[in-house]
Amino acid sequence: MYIYADNAATTKPSQTAIDAMVSCLKEVYGNPSSLHSAGQKAAEVLFQARVDVAQAIGADFNEIYFTSGGSEADNQAIRSAALTGARRGKKHLVSTKIEHHAVLHTLDKLENEGFEVTLLEVGPDGIVKVEDVEKAIRPDTALVTIMYANNEIGTIQPITEIAALCREKKVVFHTDAVQAVGHLPINVHDQQIDMLSLSGHKFHGPRGVGALYVRKGIPLRNLIEGGAQERGKRAGTENLPAIVGMAAALKEAVANMEENSKTVTALRDRLIKGLSHIDHSRLNGDPVKRLPGNVNFVFEGIEGESLLLLLDDKGIAASSGSACTSGSLDPSHVLLSIGLPHEVAHGSLRLSLDESMTEEEIDYIVNAVPEVVAYLRDISPVWEDLVKGDKDYVIQ
Ligand SMILES: *Cc1c(COP(=O)(O)O)cnc(C)c1O
Repeated sequence: MYIYADNAATTKPSQTAIDAMVSCLKEVYGNPSSLHSAGQKAAEVLFQARVDVAQAIGADFNEIYFTSGGSEADNQAIRSAALTGARRGKKHLVSTKIEHHAVLHTLDKLENEGFEVTLLEVGPDGIVKVEDVEKAIRPDTALVTIMYANNEIGTIQPITEIAALCREKKVVFHTDAVQAVGHLPINVHDQQIDMLSLSGHKFHGPRGVGALYVRKGIPLRNLIEGGAQERGKRAGTENLPAIVGMAAALKEAVANMEENSKTVTALRDRLIKGLSHIDHSRLNGDPVKRLPGNVNFVFEGIEGESLLLLLDDKGIAASSGSACTSGSLDPSHVLLSIGLPHEVAHGSLRLSLDESMTEEEIDYIVNAVPEVVAYLRDISPVWEDLVKGDKDYVIQ
């Protein structure tokens, strides 16, 4: 048995996406910028992909810019809005403490370049308060950027309310919707979102490709200079097979969203119920306002990394914190933000599900995790202190 429960890190490409990519690689080899018919065929395929991606999020085709992924889209959106603001004397940026590093590190850089950044706290439920966003907005605020759904604890932010607030205050609003697109219903025009980042590999498309939606009328600046691709806003010959694969995967995800969401939510809640019997453990993030596929637990007295390796031995692929922070010894900034102390934040486990999973697989995980947690606690000096009463439990 091999159970892949790390869909927040990346998803397995769907057969539809693979077929679309292979046929594009074989048959659509022209450069969309070339004037001959092979080039024009490629330009048509590129156009159709743009229309499909736009439709999936309620945008117009000429509001979509293809990028190399979610990280690039985040970088471009934030840098562009910051520089545009600076030209008008606005050098204040608002975001949250639980953003993806593509956002946080871009904001760090901008801070070093003279911008002022306000990072909002989230509550213990992992959700930012709209009133805190309102309080943070100033006359010199150039941008509010807040993620749609968190990649570690799955919490869904009140994006519609925040976007409406920003529209009212005439502040540009960007959302990193990489975890949400293809999983939650999104309509950028109805929701008054100005900029949105998405990434192909988080909804069963290929990696290395994403898109930035930018509402008509919002200025966009280049990160990459060169040719006139993407209407002059992102140079470089288009990665057409990847773009086509992403568009096919997104179309499929949106068409099946309701059904998939039902399936995955039921699996998620079965898993949450099964794991909540483990003592001195807790579900991280709001139990309801969370992504259909996200389960994130913390188990006191153990190390998440050891848990992962032992689960891998049992054929379960999971994650501790986010894939991007593993390899560093710092606990997840997201878990610290929701109030977990350092030593406890290390004992976290993220299981991210998809619609291909079965109840049998969930039950296998529900059996395996308590065994591994019990084994690790048995050999843990921290746990021994807790049991002897030398230290107090953080999680009752
Ligand atoms: C995966 C992810 C990204 C990065 O996207 P890439 O396509 O891997 O660059 C950004 N933000 C969030 C919330 C993500 O989950």
